[in-house]
Amino acid sequence: MPECNLKANLNQCTCTYLSCHRRGKCCECVVYHRSHGELPGCFFPREAEKTYDRSIRKFVEVYSKG
Ligand code: SF4
Repeated sequence: MPECNLKANLNQCTCTYLSCHRRGKCCECVVYHRSHGELPGCFFPREAEKTYDRSIRKFVEVYSKG
């Protein structure tokens, strides 16, 4: 079983939902959001991330702008 890079992951995490128990556990974060048809918060620009809309639709919308 590979070791989790929790501390390093937390240092890079841009998710503003600070009470989430998946923060820093990127594998759990990806699985969770993928199962909901979403992407992890770190895929979104700062302002979009704050909306907590992690849908693929939002992701495409954000990156389709100019
Ligand atoms: S992106 Fe989602 S699962 Fe990941 S830390 Fe933020 S709220 Fe939690």
